[in-house]
Amino acid sequence: MENSSDSSQIVEGVICYCGQFTTLKTSWTEANPGRRFRGCKFYGRQDACNFFSWLDPPAHPRYKSVINGLLRKKSVADKKEVVVGWKFRFYKIGFWLLTCFVVIRIIF
Ligand SMILES: [Zn+2]
Repeated sequence: MENSSDSSQIVEGVICYCGQFTTLKTSWTEANPGRRFRGCKFYGRQDACNFFSWLDPPAHPRYKSVINGLLRKKSVADKKEVVVGWKFRFYKIGFWLLTCFVVIRIIF
């Protein structure tokens, strides 16, 4: 499944059609934000069985709306944070260049 968490853990006791323990992941799609599911650990591979089973019941529409809204706000905030980080580095480099220039002017 796309948009699932990177961290997955083996779920003992549930075996897929490949004969392997399934992994537990969390969906972050618009339709199922934060909903956990079990899946074949080889999901996406050509020879995988692609076993899939929801662990959590479907979420209430209000819950989905709130979570998706928060995820969108977080995404915007993360992008702003990256821009602020670059501006800060730029100013820091500018500060050191100016300091070096002033020191060189004082010495020579
Ligand atoms: Zn499998």
